Amino acid sequence: MTTLLVDMDSVIVDLMSEWHRRYNERYHDTLSVAKLRSWDSEIYVKPECGVKIYDFLDEPGLFLELQPLPGAIDALRRLKRSHDVVIVTSSRTYAYTDKELWVERHLPFIGKRNLIYSHRKELICGDLLFDDAPPNLEAFRGSGRLAVAMDYPYNRDVDVPRVSDWQEFEQALTDGRWGM
Ligand SMILES: [Mg+2]
Repeated sequence: MTTLLVDMDSVIVDLMSEWHRRYNERYHDTLSVAKLRSWDSEIYVKPECGVKIYDFLDEPGLFLELQPLPGAIDALRRLKRSHDVVIVTSSRTYAYTDKELWVERHLPFIGKRNLIYSHRKELICGDLLFDDAPPNLEAFRGSGRLAVAMDYPYNRDVDVPRVSDWQEFEQALTDGRWGM
């Protein structure tokens, strides 16, 4: 059975909308994911914010409140029938618990037993990594396996197969587009 490694932030959950909403409210700005042309968010915020943009990610409860991306939960439920589905996510220091609770609440059919925390996703056994972060996609591809990008402006320089949403990801697997 094929093992799918699936990222959480910006693949299963919509982190950017809530993260940017909090930033925009605090700094009176109009940041959105469409404006992110690279992975370093601090480039796109007001100078008085800078790297403090990442402090929002340490606000208690943020990761527990995130909404799933369209179609993610239903697609995962279907894919789980024919694939070994494992969530692989990196976490801020204080977000581990929120992330586990989110998975138990929204994805009980996957559950915390299939949740792996790692900043080195290329070291995890699996046939395919579905992710959005350029460093993860590049490192996994570098291990000789298939990395698939959830398409965002900030990852378009990474030379891997990409999909625009969960419907396309599921369809590509069903069609055997990537030979698995
Ligand atoms: Mg991510």
